[in-house]
Amino acid sequence: MRSLREYEKIVGTAVLNQLEQLAGNLTGLKVVHVNSTKSGGGVAEILAWMIPFMQELGIETAWEVIKGDGTFFNVTKTFHNGLQGQPVNLLPSQIKAYEQTSAENAERLRPILEAADMVFVHDPQPAFLLRLCPNRQGTWIWRCHIDASHPSRSVWKYLRPLLEGYDASIFSMAEFSKSLPHPQFLIAPSIDPLSEKNIELKQREKNEIRNRFSLDPKRPILTQISRYDRFKDPLGVIEGYRLIRKFTPVQLVLAGGGADDDPEGAEVLRQVEEAAAGDPDIHVLSLPADAHLTINALQRLSDIIIQKSTREGFGLTVTEGLWKGKPVIGGDVGGIRLQVINYHTGFLVNSPEGMSQRVRYLLNHQNMMQIMGIKGREFVRENFLLTRHLREYLTLMVGLRRGFTDRLIAAA
Ligand code: UDP
Repeated sequence: MRSLREYEKIVGTAVLNQLEQLAGNLTGLKVVHVNSTKSGGGVAEILAWMIPFMQELGIETAWEVIKGDGTFFNVTKTFHNGLQGQPVNLLPSQIKAYEQTSAENAERLRPILEAADMVFVHDPQPAFLLRLCPNRQGTWIWRCHIDASHPSRSVWKYLRPLLEGYDASIFSMAEFSKSLPHPQFLIAPSIDPLSEKNIELKQREKNEIRNRFSLDPKRPILTQISRYDRFKDPLGVIEGYRLIRKFTPVQLVLAGGGADDDPEGAEVLRQVEEAAAGDPDIHVLSLPADAHLTINALQRLSDIIIQKSTREGFGLTVTEGLWKGKPVIGGDVGGIRLQVINYHTGFLVNSPEGMSQRVRYLLNHQNMMQIMGIKGREFVRENFLLTRHLREYLTLMVGLRRGFTDRLIAAA
């Protein structure tokens, strides 16, 4: 396992000193994070590094994952879709299944959750646990990773009273915050620059991946890495690619895998494979959860990273692309707007036509691509690396321990 001091060469000594100083206020604190999957998707990606580093900083931090069957995760996917604005109708039978599985999880988790000083509950899947821990000692914080700015009425009607019971909530950007009767904080996600997903690779390693997937070294590569989720709009990416292909012989890589808590992935993948069928230059890859080095290499082999989402809480794949010095063409939504700055780190687009125009513009302005790549990497270094993320969590925890109660406070 890496030590935090290894990040000194990337972010400087002062940043590390500050983290240790902040954490000194929290020594021995018992913290638990709860989410719904160990792998697949951005939340698991973040918790995988955050837990050990919090431990290294002297905070007793545990990571618990709720378990459920297909029915349960179908309901929580309805929450997910509904919070992100899809019109859905939550049925009483779904609520019953959700609460029942939550109760089973509470039987297992209650001792650790009730004894914790602070509990971070990620997204709606584990949210009901709060109601099932009546003797809780600590502060409970709901951490929302998705764009919940315009939720479906039916889902919000059910979730809102539940979330009101929390002591605080965290959103990735101000636009996502809700009218809730507790303090709300803004913390943007981040990447780990020394993880397998983001570490520098040798040319030999990149070549190996290029050969494995039969990518042509002579033609530009566009890549979107994503779970197969409708909000990521993989079909729109294929449409955009087809428009580009009328002029330029680009190759498209769509790489993703499933997440344990995402039951719709298989169906979306099937639709993507159908749309791509017969075109040898569309590479639809279904990768295992631990394919971090493969994804790293694919991003580095790409000329342009695409993330054409129609809803996006943040989009770690955007951060990963920028960190690798690639311009990113992203959907003009949610957290992508925090990262893609038009003409500086990439382009925001609203349609396959927009994607096609921006890709063609960039491929015709190689110089601009290089400048954007440099700017993108520095933008991530300043804003979206794990040290900033840790600092904001620590600041928030110190603040909550001291009991501040402003309604909307940026944790930085
Ligand atoms: N990811 C992965 N394998 C896949 C698809 C995605 O490891 O097959 C990673 C991706 O590199 C990124 C994270 O999962 O680190 C996705 O986070 P993001 O915020 O982009 O989207 P989310 O899945 O959380 O909606």
